[in-house]
Amino acid sequence: MTRIISITLCSLTALALGTSCGDSEDRDVVVEGQAGRLGGKPNIVMVTVDTLRADHLSAYGHSRETSPHLERLADQGVLFEAAFSTMGTTLPAHLSIMTGLYPHQHGYVANHGAMSGGFQSGESRRAIAEILASDGYTTAAFVSGPTVSKVTGLDAGFQHWDQHEFDKLQSLSSTSRHSSVTTDRAVAWLEAGPEEPFFLWVHYWDPHEPNIPPAPYGGQFPKGSIEEQLIEDRKIRPEVLLERFDDEELARLFHPDWGREGGDIELPPIDHDAVVDLLNRYDSDVYATDVALGRLMDCLEEQGLFDDSILVFTSDHGQALGQHDWLEHGRIQSENVHVPLVIHFPGEVIQQPLRVEDVVSVVDILPTIMARLGTDSARELLTQASGEDIFSGEYLRRFAFSQRSVRERDWELGEDTDGLKFGLTTSRWKYYHRPDGADELYDLSTDSGELIDVAAEHPEVMETLERHVLAILSRRPFTPEARQGPESEELKRFRETLGKIGYTGE
Ligand SMILES: [Zn+2]
Repeated sequence: MTRIISITLCSLTALALGTSCGDSEDRDVVVEGQAGRLGGKPNIVMVTVDTLRADHLSAYGHSRETSPHLERLADQGVLFEAAFSTMGTTLPAHLSIMTGLYPHQHGYVANHGAMSGGFQSGESRRAIAEILASDGYTTAAFVSGPTVSKVTGLDAGFQHWDQHEFDKLQSLSSTSRHSSVTTDRAVAWLEAGPEEPFFLWVHYWDPHEPNIPPAPYGGQFPKGSIEEQLIEDRKIRPEVLLERFDDEELARLFHPDWGREGGDIELPPIDHDAVVDLLNRYDSDVYATDVALGRLMDCLEEQGLFDDSILVFTSDHGQALGQHDWLEHGRIQSENVHVPLVIHFPGEVIQQPLRVEDVVSVVDILPTIMARLGTDSARELLTQASGEDIFSGEYLRRFAFSQRSVRERDWELGEDTDGLKFGLTTSRWKYYHRPDGADELYDLSTDSGELIDVAAEHPEVMETLERHVLAILSRRPFTPEARQGPESEELKRFRETLGKIGYTGE
């Protein structure tokens, strides 16, 4: 039976620290739920949107109406307000979603990890599609971008795999496909009546750079007042971006037609208006993706499948859009790792709608789903995962661990990435641990933009959070075996495509 408990707690950090709650650490209300198990095997639909930062969704408070369909889903499901990814990088983050493991445990800490031969499944390292397939599920995936293509190994366990033929195309904008096209294919598969139960994964790419929203989305969000506020609040400095990034990188963000035109790059001025234009194009791509989600939900409803299905909506990472003097992803500040997470459960398994304030990680998604199933294979994944069932009634971790990508882009050579960097988010703190440098601490209760390092003022907090980071890193690390033999044609094209979209480093 579903039981929802509303309680007032002191901050989660205070809990983690085992200290008493001071006035400054009181929170309003934390909603916890205990969910039951489902009979049978429900269909499961997973939607991941690449490069989607939570705070650009109206479902998460963005003042533009960018996500009416996600709001429709949230009205019938559970919305997690504070969900964080494990990395700001596509392949590692998706593998965390699909395995419930941290990057050092599934073994991939960069998109280039695919060059070693892709995800290597094994004992305690199985992907959800493999487990569900062994449990009798029909499995199908429809993906939209190169960094989730078959060579990455993300196809593990999928009987039907549908990807964009990026390798046959030449220009930057043609390395991925639009959400409308991917949705057409997924909807056709659903309308053909797949054998149930099924696990369907749909991956969208639209918010990933370059942001080239096609008609009718291009003019969705014309210049308004909201961008001025964002630029001011986020302290976006076009002049620093211009100095920091090379022309190709700037072109990918600020000159969306670059790559379609060929020839020399002619950059527009990288100024205030260019940032406004970038923010507007990004929001338009977010909206286009939401329309695709709406079509997918409509199809599930028309087929009579929606009510009894588990539907998960999330993202692999966010996008900096100029915040912290950064343009894209890879880093682990909130703009890069705070992701949307909305789950619709069938029937009475949990009271819905529900909003959860607790800090959770994408590694918690699979345990939370699989705990509802109660099959043998579900239990196997619960044993494997580093994440937890958020609705067990015993979810006490309440922090999210993230890891910085290794350098993937040439211009990162001068960046502060010497030595890996790890992050821990709690309801109050953002802590960064650098094995070869100074750690940092930000008080999110007064500094949500992570601008003032207060490490020196809170040594006891630093000590506790460092202990959590080191404990996670010591747990079941895995290094994949190096790929043997000559590079296949498929891998060669993959490497070339990675270069085309900017991942030219290690
Ligand atoms: Zn991504």
